Amino acid sequence: MAGPFHAQKQSRLFNLVSADVRLLIYEAVLADPDRMLHIVSYRGNRHRPCMGHWQCDDAESPLPTWQHSCYGIWTPESGGTYRRREPRSNSNLVSMLLACRVVYLEAITVLYNANVFAFKGAHGLIRFHSTLPAQNWNRLRRVNVSTVFMMPRRVSEGIYSRDNSVPPENYYAWGEACSTLATLTYLQHLTIDMTIWNYRGHNSTNPFPPEDLLSILEPLKHIKAKFFEVELNTALPEAVKTSLEPLNFSIKQCHRPYDTESFRQG
Ligand SMILES: [Zn+2]
Repeated sequence: MAGPFHAQKQSRLFNLVSADVRLLIYEAVLADPDRMLHIVSYRGNRHRPCMGHWQCDDAESPLPTWQHSCYGIWTPESGGTYRRREPRSNSNLVSMLLACRVVYLEAITVLYNANVFAFKGAHGLIRFHSTLPAQNWNRLRRVNVSTVFMMPRRVSEGIYSRDNSVPPENYYAWGEACSTLATLTYLQHLTIDMTIWNYRGHNSTNPFPPEDLLSILEPLKHIKAKFFEVELNTALPEAVKTSLEPLNFSIKQCHRPYDTESFRQG
C-alpha cells in the first residue's frame, strides 16, 4: 500500500527558488538539444527486454547514426566469436525526476520536449513507444530515426535479423513505426537517415526497384513535422518523386561510409 502523500512544499527548492529558475535548472540537468539522446534496447532478462538511454558520445562519426558506438560495437572474444557490448545508460538523467513527486511533475515535460530522441530502426522506436505512457510519448518534439534497408524487398524479407534490430530494416515494422510517428501532434523536428543497400553488393549499380522505394517512402506521408528531412544515399527516380507528391519532407542525398566489420549483423 502506498504511504501518505506529502506535498513536499517544505523543501527549500520550492520555497526559495522561483518557478522560472527551477525551469532553468531542469533544462540544464535534463536536456541537451545539441546532443542526441539514443534510445537503446538491451536484453534485460529472457522475459523482459529493457530500454536504456545513451547521450551521444560519437557525434563526430561520419557513419550512419545507427552505427554510432553509442549502440554498442562488436568486439572479438576468445574462440573467434564476436560479442556486442550492450549499453544501458551513460547518464543519471532520470535521477532528479525520481527524487520527488513535485520535481517529477514539474520537470517531466522538459525531458521529453527538449531532447532529440534518436532511434535505431523501426524496432527501437516501436519498443520505446510501447513502454511509454501516452502523455509522455506526445511530449516528444525532436526525433531522429536511423535505419538501413536492403533491396530488393523480396530478398530482404528472407534475412531479417533475429532480434528485429537493423540491419536490415523490417519493411512491415517500418510501416508501423511511421504510423506511430504520425500520432505525434506537436512534432517539430524530424530527421531520418536512411541507407539503402543492394543485396547484390554495396557497390552494385543495379537500380533499386521503384516499387520497393515507394514502399518505404509512402508511409512517411502521414507524418507531420515543422521540419522534416530524409537523408538518402541514393537519388530517387523522377517517377518515384512524382508518385510521392506533394512531398511533406525534404530529401537530402548523402553518402556516409559504413563499417561492416565492427557492426556485424546479428
Ligand atoms: Zn551517438
